[in-house]
Amino acid sequence: MPTRLVDLHTHSSVSDGTEAPAALIASAVRAGLDTVALTDHDSTAGWAEASAAVAGTGLTLVPGMELSTRLGLNSVHMLGYLFDPAHPGLVAETARLRDSRLHRAERIVERIAADYDLTWGDVLAQASSGATLGRPHIADALVAKGYAPDRSAAFGGILHWRSGYYEPHEAPSPLIGVRLIRDAGGVPVIAHPATRGREPNVSSEGFEALVDAGLLGVEIDHRENTTAGKARLLELARRHDLLVTGPSDSHGDGKPNRLGENTTAPDQLDRIVDAATGWVPVRG
Ligand code: AMP
Ligand code: FE
Ligand code: FE
Ligand code: ZN
Repeated sequence: MPTRLVDLHTHSSVSDGTEAPAALIASAVRAGLDTVALTDHDSTAGWAEASAAVAGTGLTLVPGMELSTRLGLNSVHMLGYLFDPAHPGLVAETARLRDSRLHRAERIVERIAADYDLTWGDVLAQASSGATLGRPHIADALVAKGYAPDRSAAFGGILHWRSGYYEPHEAPSPLIGVRLIRDAGGVPVIAHPATRGREPNVSSEGFEALVDAGLLGVEIDHRENTTAGKARLLELARRHDLLVTGPSDSHGDGKPNRLGENTTAPDQLDRIVDAATGWVPVRG
């Protein structure tokens, strides 16, 4: 039997991806995927549209989210799969995150506007209504104004954390993120923990604390993890019997990442589905 193609990390226009959830599902079908997870930043607002869109396609949807957390100055992304989207603690935390992101984006834009012709309206024009706002939307506005050729260039310049315009948003600790996702019946998997230039994003001791708090998986085969980092993560995963994933982290046209460029072994997906008590995959 041919291997099922499983991509467990994608973004739609509910956060900083460029395709609406239904269009993302259509793209996943075209890419030949068997299973796709929708993991927008700090929002489950795309679950309903994506769930409806898989009907009749043969594609399976794993509803999820990429929760923003922070450890000191380091941003740590925590994927959560198949949790109860109505869990009060998680609903409150994500609402707080989206609100903090909104005001933080306004302050970044205020600073940029002192030097460039950029308004808050220009940024809002790049985001779908109610989207989790982030630097990618500011990047798109800068591109539209001709200040950068693409998102990546904007991130390397005006939006860089050392540019003088940057400020972080508020975020819970990774430990709280793991506990919230578990409390909501979901499966926490730490996203791209060996990102180039910021290694190690989480120390070995920090990692052990996350495992004690209920972390169940680690995202290893991701284009932003370094080769040395992947080896270290594999060793940590073996030591703690964590499940391992590999995804695209597709953002549509917002990033070069292509759907299905990395995939997760079907038996690792089975571990996620078996461990989840908050929600079930939606089989199209
Ligand atoms: P923020 O959470 O608002 O600080 O923005 C971080 C988001 O920007 C991440 O979720 C990435 O998807 C995106 N991002 C980071 N670096 C780049 C880049 N070089 N090109 C495009 N998108 C990026
Ligand atoms: Fe993103
Ligand atoms: Fe991420
Ligand atoms: Zn992501």
